[in-house]
Amino acid sequence: MTDKKRAARPAQNAHPTPTQDERSQVVAEPPPVETLPDIPGRINYSEEIPDAQEVNEIVDRLLSTQPEEQPHMSPTGEFDADVVVIGSGPGGYVCAIRAAQLGARTVCIEKQASEWGGTCLNWGCIPTKTLIASTERLHHVQTAGVMGVTISGEIGFDFAKMMERKTKVVTTLRNGVSGLLKNNHIRAVVGTASLVDANTIEVVDADGKTERITSKNIIIATGSVPIMPPVPGLAKDPADPRGVSSNGIWTSDEAVYAKECPKRMVVIGAGAVGLEFAYVFRSLGAEVDLVEIAPEILPAGDKEVAAELRKALKKQGIRFHLSSKVTGVEQKDGVRIVTIQGENETKTVEVDVVLVGAGRKPLVDGLNLDKVGVQVVSEGPMVKRGIVVNEYLQTTVPNIYAIGDVTGKLLLAHLGSHMGIVASENAMGHQVKMDYRAVPAPIYTSPELASVGLTEDEARAQGYDVMTGRFPFRPLGRAMALNEQEGMVKIISERKYGEVLGVHIVGPYATEMIHEAVVAIKLEATIEELMTTIHAHPTLSEAMGEAALDVKGEAIHKMR
Ligand SMILES: Cc1cc2nc3c(=O)[nH]c(=O)nc-3n(C[C@H](O)[C@H](O)[C@H](O)COP(=O)(O)OP(=O)(O)OC[C@H]3O[C@@H](n4cnc5c(N)ncnc54)[C@H](O)[C@@H]3O)c2cc1C
Repeated sequence: MTDKKRAARPAQNAHPTPTQDERSQVVAEPPPVETLPDIPGRINYSEEIPDAQEVNEIVDRLLSTQPEEQPHMSPTGEFDADVVVIGSGPGGYVCAIRAAQLGARTVCIEKQASEWGGTCLNWGCIPTKTLIASTERLHHVQTAGVMGVTISGEIGFDFAKMMERKTKVVTTLRNGVSGLLKNNHIRAVVGTASLVDANTIEVVDADGKTERITSKNIIIATGSVPIMPPVPGLAKDPADPRGVSSNGIWTSDEAVYAKECPKRMVVIGAGAVGLEFAYVFRSLGAEVDLVEIAPEILPAGDKEVAAELRKALKKQGIRFHLSSKVTGVEQKDGVRIVTIQGENETKTVEVDVVLVGAGRKPLVDGLNLDKVGVQVVSEGPMVKRGIVVNEYLQTTVPNIYAIGDVTGKLLLAHLGSHMGIVASENAMGHQVKMDYRAVPAPIYTSPELASVGLTEDEARAQGYDVMTGRFPFRPLGRAMALNEQEGMVKIISERKYGEVLGVHIVGPYATEMIHEAVVAIKLEATIEELMTTIHAHPTLSEAMGEAALDVKGEAIHKMR
C-alpha cells in the first residue's frame, strides 16, 4: 500500500456504506448534528471511524429516539409516504427500489404509462444499443468471408424489422421495470408531478384528474431533453409529437423511431449520441457528414483516444467537419440544404435528414422549484446546468433530493442509478457521499470507446506530474483471432505514488473492458498493481496489463 493510500484509508472508512443489517433496520433520520456549510440543513458527520460497537450504538439510539425526534415520520400517519420519486428513468426507478428495500413507503411517479424506464429505456441507451447490435451483426455477416465462413445469397437488412426488434426489447424491459416496482410494493402513479411545498407533490393525470401526495422526502429524477441550437431553419415541425418528424429535422427521439434509413444526412455534434447515430446510419449505407464545433470529436474526452476513434470512423466513410458549425438549414422540395461554416470555408450539403445531437438540458420546467426554494444553476442562454445538489444529493431544500440527468452532471444512466441509491440511503437516514471519480463513460461505435477518470489534459491541468502508457490491440493474439485489431488502451498515472488517474480505451469490447479500470480507480490502485495483475491469455484485456507496463517503459510485446 502506498503512503497516499494509507493516508486515505481512514477517510474512506469514515462513512462506511451501510451494512445489509444496518440498511434493513434504520428507517429513521440520523441524530441531529451540525449543518454543512454549502447547503443549510445538511447533516454533518465526524471524520472519526466508528467501530462496530459504535455503529450498533448509533443504530440503537436512532431506533429508540425515533418516535420523539421524528414526529413527522409516516408511521405516525402524518405523511402519505416516506419517499416519493418523480420520474422513473434509471435514476428514479432504481432509487424507488432502494428506498423500498430500506423499508420506506415509496411512490414513484411517471408522466406517461408508456415511459416507465425513462429516456434510457425508451429513447436512449436501449433502443440505440439494440439497433447497433443489428448493424454489428450485419457487419459480421458481411465480413464473414475473411474468417473462412461462406454465406450464399444476398446479404442485406430489413430496417422495419430492426425497428420492430428494438421495440420488442424496449417493451420487454419496460414491463420489467413496472414488474420490479410492483414486486417491491412501490406505488406507481402515472401523471405529471409538480411541487406544492417541501412535503407535497401534486400529480395531474392525462384526464386532468389531480391527486396530492405528501411525503417526508422527495427525490427529483425528471431527466433531460435534447437541446435544439438556435440555428435558422433548425426546428422540428411544432405539430409533430415526440418521435415523429415531418420535416427531416431529427433529435435522437426521432432517430430511434425512424421509419426508414436516410440516404444522406448531417449529424450535428460529435458527442456520444451524435457519434453512435452517425455510426449506425453509415453502417446501413447512409452518407453521413458529421459537424462538430470543437477541433476534435468528443470534446470532453481524451484527445488522443478521440482522434483514434475519429480515424477509424473516417475509414468507414463518415465525413468529419471539425471546428465547424451548421449556420442554416433550408427546406426545398423535400430536401434539407445545410450550410456548414468551417474555419476557412463555408459549404452546403443536401440531405434527407439533419440529426441534432448537440447535447441535452435538465428537465425542470413545470416542477415549481422556485416556489419551494430548490435552486437550479443556469449557464448560458440555452443550457441550464441543473438542480444544485450537495455530496449527499440534497438540494437546497434538505428533504428534497435530485439525481440523474436533472442535476446536470455526466448524463449517464448508470450514474443516475448510483445517485438514486445514494439519495435513497441518505433519505432513509444513512450518510453516503457521492464519489464521481470512477464513472465509466461508454460509446458504442465500432470500435467502441470507453473512459474512466481523468484525461491527460485534465490530469496536467490539475497539476499532476503525469506519466502515460499505451498499448495497441493490433499485436494481440485475441484481437487477431477476432479480426478486431483497431485501437489501443491508454493509461494516465501520476509519478509520485503511481496512482492510476485515468484509463481510455478505443477498441473492440472497450465498454466491457473498462471495468477493470473502474475498479482500479475506485480503489486508488497504482500502476505497479495494474502491471503485476495477471491478465488471462489470450484476451483483449492483455492490452491493459501491457499499457500499465508501458507507463514504466516495460511493455513486453512492444517493438522499440
Ligand atoms: C440516444 C441516447 C443514447 C444514450 N445512450 C446511453 C448509454 O449508452 N449509456 C448511458 O449510460 N447513457 C446513455 N444515454 C443517457 C441516458 O439515457 C440518461 O443519462 C438517463 O436516461 C438519465 O436517467 P434519469 O433517470 O436521470 O432520467 P430519464 O431517463 O430522462 O427519466 C426521467 C423520467 O422522468 C419523467 N418525468 C419528467 N418530468 C416529470 C414530471 N414532472 N412528472 C413525472 N414524471 C416526469 C420522464 O417522462 C422520464 O421518464 C443516452 C441518451 C440518449 C438520448
